[in-house]
Amino acid sequence: SGRADVIDGEAVAAAVRESVAEAVSRLDEVGVTPGLATVLMSDDPASETYVRMKQRDCAEVGIESRHVEIDTDAPASELFATIEELNDDPAIDGILVQRPLTEGVDEPAALRRVDPRKDVDGFHPENVGRLVTGDPRFVPCTPLGVQRLLTEAGVEIPGSDVVVVGRSELVGKPLANLLLNRGDDADATVTVCHSKTDDLAAHVSRADVVVVAAGVPGLVDGEMLSADATVIDVGINAVGEGDDRKLIGDVDYESASEVARAITPVPGGVGPMTRAMLLKNTVTAAANQAAVDIDL
Ligand code: NDP
Repeated sequence: SGRADVIDGEAVAAAVRESVAEAVSRLDEVGVTPGLATVLMSDDPASETYVRMKQRDCAEVGIESRHVEIDTDAPASELFATIEELNDDPAIDGILVQRPLTEGVDEPAALRRVDPRKDVDGFHPENVGRLVTGDPRFVPCTPLGVQRLLTEAGVEIPGSDVVVVGRSELVGKPLANLLLNRGDDADATVTVCHSKTDDLAAHVSRADVVVVAAGVPGLVDGEMLSADATVIDVGINAVGEGDDRKLIGDVDYESASEVARAITPVPGGVGPMTRAMLLKNTVTAAANQAAVDIDL
């Protein structure tokens, strides 16, 4: 019913996976097999599912994955020792420490242990610093996925007014830095909004691009948007019970798609892109460590 173009994250993610698989075969020709280690120290069922999905994604493109589970009763030193071993293991190119870690474990300390050259999540302070100083190495997967969706949707990012709703270290902040940096797929004028923002609607209404990563269903709706806006909905919220249970985003899709130029659906927008970008970062890590140039 709406008139906005639907940005198909599944299709773009499939294209990313295909180019990753091609890069994997180029690496294979020179005897390199990319390897990703996933580390889980949590009983959270959602985290277990995420880790399994990441392993399946790896298998699909030819990345070897290894899974290490640390007992939630174990001391943090066991987690740290595991990370050190993976840092030293030449078969492992990327290390992903699944968050949230079990209560009581110092998460920033764990993330600092990861060798920044293997930090495919882009959470190590060295990689955060490199992004902020305009010399990115590993950029967090969701911001990378959002940037790619914007270019695929035909958005001319340089000079555009981008409003990012959300300032988390995971999504909002790195995305703002990514789009603020110099470059053909960046050079944006970026506004970052959050829960203390005085008048969210005033900011959103003059944006060419609105990216919502707040975890609040319906936070942005059609009435707030300008007619030619491109809307990227990062939010994933579970609503309803039993058979009525479903996932919705942070954007009121019905009203927003009546107004916007283009919009991502939930599910099927940013989610698949986040997963695909982890594969891309892992293959990049393998190529860097093998000092092979793979044009990915
Ligand atoms: P966080 O909870 O860490 O951050 C939420 C941000 O939104 C905060 O900066 C918060 O402000 C802001 N916010 C909350 N309420 C409002 C409001 N009423 N008005 C304006 N800003 C508000 O979440 P994440 O960044 O980790 O994730 C955001 C959403 O994206 C979640 O739904 C999450 O599930 C989803 N997600 C989806 C991914 C994907 O692949 N599709 C990947 C990662 C996350 P303040 O800082 O002031 O508290």
